[in-house]
Amino acid sequence: MANIEIAATMGRQVLLNADVIEQFSTRLRGGQLLRGDDGYDAARKIYNAMIDHRPAIIVRCAGVADVIDAVNFARSNDLLVSVRGGGHNVSGNAVCDGGLMIDLSAMKSVRVDRDSRTARAEPGVTWGEFDRETQAFGLATTGGLVSTTGIAGLTLGGGLGWLMGSHGLACDNLISVDVVTADGRVLIANDSRNEDLFWALRGGGGNFGIATSFQFRLHPVGPVLGGILIHGLDKAAEIIRFYDEFTRSSPDELGTFVGFVTSPEGERVMAIFVCCNGAVEEGERILKPLRELGPPLTDTIGAMPYVQVQKMMDDGFPAGRQNYWKSNFLKGLPPEAVDVILEHVAKAPSPHSAVAIEQFSGAVNRVGMDNTAFNHRNARYNLLIVGIWVDPAATAGNVRWVRELWDAMQPYSTGSVYVNYLGQETDEGPERVKSAYGPEKYARLAAVKQKYDPMNLFRLNQNIRPPA
Ligand SMILES: Cc1cc2nc3c(=O)[nH]c(=O)nc-3n(C[C@H](O)[C@H](O)[C@H](O)COP(=O)(O)OP(=O)(O)OC[C@H]3O[C@@H](n4cnc5c(N)ncnc54)[C@H](O)[C@@H]3O)c2cc1C
Repeated sequence: MANIEIAATMGRQVLLNADVIEQFSTRLRGGQLLRGDDGYDAARKIYNAMIDHRPAIIVRCAGVADVIDAVNFARSNDLLVSVRGGGHNVSGNAVCDGGLMIDLSAMKSVRVDRDSRTARAEPGVTWGEFDRETQAFGLATTGGLVSTTGIAGLTLGGGLGWLMGSHGLACDNLISVDVVTADGRVLIANDSRNEDLFWALRGGGGNFGIATSFQFRLHPVGPVLGGILIHGLDKAAEIIRFYDEFTRSSPDELGTFVGFVTSPEGERVMAIFVCCNGAVEEGERILKPLRELGPPLTDTIGAMPYVQVQKMMDDGFPAGRQNYWKSNFLKGLPPEAVDVILEHVAKAPSPHSAVAIEQFSGAVNRVGMDNTAFNHRNARYNLLIVGIWVDPAATAGNVRWVRELWDAMQPYSTGSVYVNYLGQETDEGPERVKSAYGPEKYARLAAVKQKYDPMNLFRLNQNIRPPA
């Protein structure tokens, strides 16, 4: 049998005998895909079409046993490993070039326990799938704003969503996580077992092992008051001045963010996206001043099921487009910062690109700074510049636009960044991961990394390097 060349760690290549790979595959319940196999190209595709990586082996995990075998096989052969949950991370770290991709996307079970208001979910589940199951019982937890995003990567990095003012981040609602560590053991991480690992998993990303089951706390949610207020850019400065004051004292139930987007008619506009969780009549009262301001060109706000508000943004983020994102937390929203955004929005080369200002308030900011690895508890606004375009030939101009706006916003930035919005390390530079945690938390995370993954098997991520 022929040898197959596979990417190993440290930029090396190893030769594995095809018999060895075949033997490994016979143990798997979910099977594996090699180059040329039916389904290989579909399995290596992720949300961001800029990523065109070709793993040597894709392990399609059907359960924990497949994950354990894949980790052991990769470690004992020193293979480069990537881990795919929902495949949404724009950095493309879910897919490796030439190595072994551990694909969790077929692990889809969700079990809701209505009595204890908890849910157990596997790592291939998306937020749309999770919400569908929990809402059958009138329950939900904080999850991403686009329903096709995976629960795994989003939760491990923190997890911003409409309910974070009421209930904190997705990771703040984690009760327990099952993890396959680099040595192939299965550990339970929660408040009383492997507490250091549990702390690191809540914000530290995919550095510490492969999460195979997430247990979440759920809350009664829905129907909610949700929708969009659209304003012309000529009113943007005035509206944002009011919005900044308004959100300073708005109740926890109200989640909002501002998006500079293109309307269906092709106009550049400013949109305020809204979800008010709680009694609909009370939401109407809370939102009245914001809805009267301007007045908006369009107001789509109305009572709707939570699953509908969770899909409100889906059309703007179809899989298969080119994506280049850059982000930073903001010190505030002074008029000069808004001017900079408006100046650049007017020059955006793609109608699909957008600039978002995400509001942080309420429960997300009341969780103790040391309780989790997530480090942005004092944040008020996060800036996210989303470059999205269709034609790969237009890449240079679109990337330049994102970078120029990001550079111009540096005077208003805190310097810190949400780890789940980071791009590839080769583009962002190694210091950016540190700026997601600050020096103290980074050092604490590095110590946890040293304990659970001293050889840095899980390195294709926003990597926290083991100190030794
Ligand atoms: C359209 C879009 C909308 C988004 N909206 C939001 C939002 O509303 N709120 C928010 O907070 N973020 C949002 N994000 C960012 C999102 O949190 C990250 O992209 C996140 O990594 C996606 O998780 P995933 O499982 O889909 O991604 P993947 O690309 O599959 O995984 C990302 C990384 O997470 C790690 N990982 C994944 N699964 C596991 C696992 N089971 N065990 C260990 N490590 C694992 C791996 O390192 C992997 O490289 C959005 C992204 C996109 C593209």
